[in-house]
Amino acid sequence: MKLTKSRIALFITVIVLIIAAIPSLTSIAEGLQKEIAYQFMVDGENWAIVSEKASLEDLLDEYQKQYSKSIDINAKIKNTYFQQKVEIIEVEVMPEAIEPLATARQKIYAAEHEEVSIEVQSGDNLWNIAKAHDLTVSDIEMFNPEVDPDKIFPGDILVVKPLDPVLDVIIEMENTIVESIPFKIDYQKDNNLYKNQKKIVKEGIEGEKEVTYDIALLNGYQHTLEVQNEKILTEPENAIVQIGTKTTVSRGGNINYGVVSGKRISSAYGTRYHPITGRKTYHDGVDIAANSGNGVYAYTDGKVIEAGWNGGYGNCILIDHGNGLKTRYAHLSSIYVKVGQRVEAGTRIGAVGSTGFSTGPHLHFEVIKNGQTKNPLNYI
Ligand SMILES: [Zn+2]
Repeated sequence: MKLTKSRIALFITVIVLIIAAIPSLTSIAEGLQKEIAYQFMVDGENWAIVSEKASLEDLLDEYQKQYSKSIDINAKIKNTYFQQKVEIIEVEVMPEAIEPLATARQKIYAAEHEEVSIEVQSGDNLWNIAKAHDLTVSDIEMFNPEVDPDKIFPGDILVVKPLDPVLDVIIEMENTIVESIPFKIDYQKDNNLYKNQKKIVKEGIEGEKEVTYDIALLNGYQHTLEVQNEKILTEPENAIVQIGTKTTVSRGGNINYGVVSGKRISSAYGTRYHPITGRKTYHDGVDIAANSGNGVYAYTDGKVIEAGWNGGYGNCILIDHGNGLKTRYAHLSSIYVKVGQRVEAGTRIGAVGSTGFSTGPHLHFEVIKNGQTKNPLNYI
């Protein structure tokens, strides 16, 4: 067969057509190989492409749940979401573009920085720790919702810098808790009583209120907290105390509480519940805000059974008055008595301070009757 011009032309045309068809054949082949996958996007940035949407959603769910584990079981979780814009988009990709779920997991759990915690040393107080880490005392309380500041001891671990994850979780919750309402003292002047004499006519009784909080948590920590509603369940009943007519109850803005001369009750006795964790804590005494160095006086006659450092109480004295009655004096700057020493009512036993886990100079005064703490306001 001779090669004519027309045959050559036909041959070239066929070759050209075949070459032209190659790309579309390839794309047909590719089209057959492409798979449906899910692109995981955070704030418009590709984090991973995975094959299963449900597994990725489960992973994100599990990640969010870790931040709700310390929430009170009675609280109502209203909304949980990411602070960043998280999208899962269906895409068609070549199989090699699909990444294992572990890749997505690693990115989800990544942290800007890990949690930093410290071990409490003897002699530490909340102020020192806060100051050393450039924090406020309430920051420390917020980072450690499980911790009761009065019950912190050397060796305890405190978070001073919480974990800062790359992917932030916001939880909006509502919690209703019952809180006690402290009672007040009505002083009645009585000219049958001598100066400085006091007589409790009626003991006070704490009231109760139901408080509903609206709380937003950022990565498990309190972000915002607002009182949504308050309902009084029972009104407190004030204590009635008769005082001698010549007694000056208030002098130079100070009130004579018997055991100390102070400014005010800065924290009342009673049961408290943490609004987030729902954890019940007791404030076993009253905190009387007073100037540092003010004298602290024995409640009544007794024998000193503890005098020295006692964890969160700092410098602390415990006196046994007999008949099952004991009194405790905490956060003192100085102690003037020794264990075993007998004291009389009004003996100067120490001075007001801010040692231990204290947020400012005050006397924490506790009354223990047969092993149970009582409201000291019904005793002083
Ligand atoms: Zn206290």
